[in-house]
Amino acid sequence: MQPALSQYLLRQGSYINSEWHSSHNSFAVINPADGQVLNQVADAGPEQALAAVAAAHKAFPGWSALPAAKRSELLNSWYQLLIKYQTDLAIILTAEQGKPLIEAEAEINYGASYLQWFAEQAKRLDGVTIPAPSADKRIIVQRQAVGVVAAITPWNFPNAMMMRKAAAALAAGCTFVVKPAQQTPLSALAMAVLAEQAGIPKGVFNVVVGTDAKALGEVLTTDPRVAKFSFTGSTAVGKILAAQCAKGIKRVTMELGGNAPFIVFADADLDAAVQGLLVAKFRNAGQTCVCANRILVDKSIYAAFISKLLAAVNGLKVGTGFKSSSDLGPLISDEALQKVAKLVDSAIEQGAKLELGGQRHKAGKQFYTPTILSQVTADMAISQQEIFGPVIALQQFTDEAEAIQLANATDYGLAAYFYSRDIGRVFRVAQALQFGMLGINEGAISNAAAPFGGIKHSGYGREGSQYGLDDYTDIKYLCLGGLE
Ligand code: ADP
Repeated sequence: MQPALSQYLLRQGSYINSEWHSSHNSFAVINPADGQVLNQVADAGPEQALAAVAAAHKAFPGWSALPAAKRSELLNSWYQLLIKYQTDLAIILTAEQGKPLIEAEAEINYGASYLQWFAEQAKRLDGVTIPAPSADKRIIVQRQAVGVVAAITPWNFPNAMMMRKAAAALAAGCTFVVKPAQQTPLSALAMAVLAEQAGIPKGVFNVVVGTDAKALGEVLTTDPRVAKFSFTGSTAVGKILAAQCAKGIKRVTMELGGNAPFIVFADADLDAAVQGLLVAKFRNAGQTCVCANRILVDKSIYAAFISKLLAAVNGLKVGTGFKSSSDLGPLISDEALQKVAKLVDSAIEQGAKLELGGQRHKAGKQFYTPTILSQVTADMAISQQEIFGPVIALQQFTDEAEAIQLANATDYGLAAYFYSRDIGRVFRVAQALQFGMLGINEGAISNAAAPFGGIKHSGYGREGSQYGLDDYTDIKYLCLGGLE
């Protein structure tokens, strides 16, 4: 049974300049678990995106001039409200996104942790002085907010993907306009309710919800008042948006797709590797950009690993996110499910062996059974694309060099995982893997204190950590002369 959605947090349209937008044109937000309509939301177009950019532009001088301590205080108040409303926010998130409620609660905590982290970092936007080449000069370097930040965020983490951008931007002194994914606008709008309650000033945080992603994206990537653009989503869309930003020489952060290898070496603790794989693979039913995608296992332990994995995956429960027993919820859409099913079917046609699952789950139309395929090879589509579903695709390797070669044989470079108890190997492999983030004997790598981001076709820029403000600030060099 779906618990009632908080009427206080549930909104019907974009939040622009502290006003709620309404319109006759609306779109339905659907619960992916049962296809029920959760809410009708006003469909914003380019005019609303322009209005949001104008509001953020107007608010920028005031917000950036506030003492960092004051911005920190406001971010902290917003953080406290996320914690206070955690359950209500999580219910909305599960209803529109599908993930188990316990994961939704964790996501709210995770999103909130960025507010907490950046509330602290706001106070640490330090500059430096540099020894000058002549006695009459002083060189001072300071960091200043870039200006209006626009962002586009995905449906898989509707709260956290937005909050890790918004928290950093606001901490640095930037104002913010976000277009969340149309599948999950309610979580973003709920954040606007709490931003207002926290006292975030008018125009500083704006949410534009609409179905015409292309037209809204066009405004956010080309309007000259936008100084910086931040995107989390697919590499294909990221390339389009980066190209649009290039015309205006905008600052850009791109958090794009991944194709994470998960390597299990012969010296690994196999039980720990199985547990790590469950976390790295099945969180959000396999719909995360850091999901383990290609599972590479040393051939000497391959059979033992599969038998432990089968036992563990067999125990996973599939069902609606509001059932407390559910480990996996639905996929976001029927289209998404069909894509997963096609990858599995074509791998089997090409010689992969189905060890478990391989079909829709009886829990509902958009549910897929946790699946294990063995004898997968690097040339199969399932090894080359992001699966974005609950499918473990197992490949074999014979030695460390082959494992590294297979792992790096992708255009993507977001996350990679490996399990080994050999300290020499840990450092060798960590050095050799071409990815922005490594989980070493660990399946859960995301947290606000760490720099999240990729290399190669997985993008550029880092979110979270002490580096997280860099993308939202410009370095300004002051040369003081005539000091003798
Ligand atoms: P996903 O596979 O997660 O849906 P997308 O890259 O398609 O990845 O979507 C991520 C975000 O990008 C969503 O908010 C979506 O609405 C938006 N989006 C998709 N296509 C475009 C586009 N052509 N221009 C601007 N935004 C887009």
